[in-house]
Amino acid sequence: MMNANLYEIIRAANPTSPDADFMKVCGEGSATGAAPTYSYGDIEAVSGRYARLLADLGVVKGDRIAVQVEKSPQAILLYLAAMRVGAVFLPLNTAYTDPEVAYFLADAEPKVVVCDPTRAESLGRLAANLGIAELLTLDAQGGGSLSDAAESKDPDFGCVAASADDLAAILYTSGTTGRSKGAMLSHENLASNAITLQKLWGFSSDDVLLHALPIFHTHGLFVATNCVLLSGASMLFLHRFDARQVIGLLPRATVMMGVPTFYTRLLAEPAFGAECCATMRLFISGSAPLLEETFAAFEARTGQRILERYGMTETGMNTSNPLVGDRLPGTVGPGLPGVEVRITDADGRILPDGEIGTLEVKGPNVFRGYWRQPQKTAGEFRADGFFITGDLARIDENGYVQIVGRGTDLIICGGFNVYPKEVELLVDGLEGVTETAVVGLPHPDFGEAVVAVVVRDADHTDLSSEAVIEAAKLDLANFKVPKRVYFVDSLPRNAMGKVQKSELRERYKSAFAPTI
Ligand code: AMP
Repeated sequence: MMNANLYEIIRAANPTSPDADFMKVCGEGSATGAAPTYSYGDIEAVSGRYARLLADLGVVKGDRIAVQVEKSPQAILLYLAAMRVGAVFLPLNTAYTDPEVAYFLADAEPKVVVCDPTRAESLGRLAANLGIAELLTLDAQGGGSLSDAAESKDPDFGCVAASADDLAAILYTSGTTGRSKGAMLSHENLASNAITLQKLWGFSSDDVLLHALPIFHTHGLFVATNCVLLSGASMLFLHRFDARQVIGLLPRATVMMGVPTFYTRLLAEPAFGAECCATMRLFISGSAPLLEETFAAFEARTGQRILERYGMTETGMNTSNPLVGDRLPGTVGPGLPGVEVRITDADGRILPDGEIGTLEVKGPNVFRGYWRQPQKTAGEFRADGFFITGDLARIDENGYVQIVGRGTDLIICGGFNVYPKEVELLVDGLEGVTETAVVGLPHPDFGEAVVAVVVRDADHTDLSSEAVIEAAKLDLANFKVPKRVYFVDSLPRNAMGKVQKSELRERYKSAFAPTI
């Protein structure tokens, strides 16, 4: 039987020689600094040593390896080592606190925990309480007990046989709606998605990807890294996104994947323009909605049309605007080859083109369920295998999907549905508005009231809430008009650039509380 292990698939597909560059690490703030480079041969050898160490620690197929570390090349190599030994890679956001990590460790029962040396004491205690015997450390420079212990190991490890259905990773969802759930991703989920994207986006060994995303999330870990690995391309590896550093590095790159905030931050730099994008063939955006305004400003400044795609932890990527053909701002493009998309109403009936409802998807990319939560899993799938994403969307007559918001963000004001996106687009379009988040707040009379939280342009700080409300009244039905407008310096966002609407709802929850 063929080995369906993602690592084996990557190795078989990769066209480059062991001497070819895989990753150039770009030091803090430096565009050119003498940074370490890892070749494809290096990744085979180092991930082989790590895999041998894990096997010597007793890790066998199906064991979980929980990893909460800063971004480093070694963290990527650890991911590959986990594949090679047949383990289930479980990356954790570095922002999680000890009590949060405690929940994940108790839930996932990993065999090995790898953490930053600064967390070793507290997480070591936690792990010991849970009966987890092995704790290793890895710092942002690649140092720590993992690398020390692996140094003397034999690099010649091979790759444990896996079937398409075997688990490769568990990623906890960002938990914006309740407790975070572990999405189980199989080797087939990851491999099929990576192969599709590599072809669709035209990746080749000539590509140089600028990698500034975190690697505890599907975007930076799977989408970016696997496209590079499969095509034998290379990457410029940044610890984090820094607009000025990125501007310095773009002339050495051909592709960048980013969240929308990368693009707004680049545009905020006067030095950013077409010259530094001369070698760039593709800018990709995802993980949160890209404003049409950002798309237009980026095109005006650089001549490049950002390619927006849509996905989620549970599914990897689902849709993408095309490499060749119309990239439509405000849409996330049609379903990927092999991925079916449809829109349904609250009773699960399929809706015609153009109508707003819940987006459902089906394909080899869709996860195997939530870890140890069969009931939750069953509740999010239809009988015919479609996964209910929870995103509200419409599909136009050409098959392009437009995301309208999360189902949980839907506002019901006096019994009428208000899609926040519609109000946000209108307010965003007003002169002096940088961006807007629209949320529903508890209201004694309407159930929920529409509220706009607005960031003003620096030169329009005199924009008043009355002006916003008056302008909204011209175009929107009364129930959609914000009852109140709050001005803020910036919207709260998580590491993937998603606006944290739950935080805004919490912040303003008493806005309409009756006064006694
Ligand atoms: P996560 O599981 O953290 O990757 O979050 C997935 C969610 O991010 C999706 O369900 C969408 O709500 C949102 N999302 C991802 N990409 C886009 C996009 N291009 N436009 C709008 N929302 C997006």
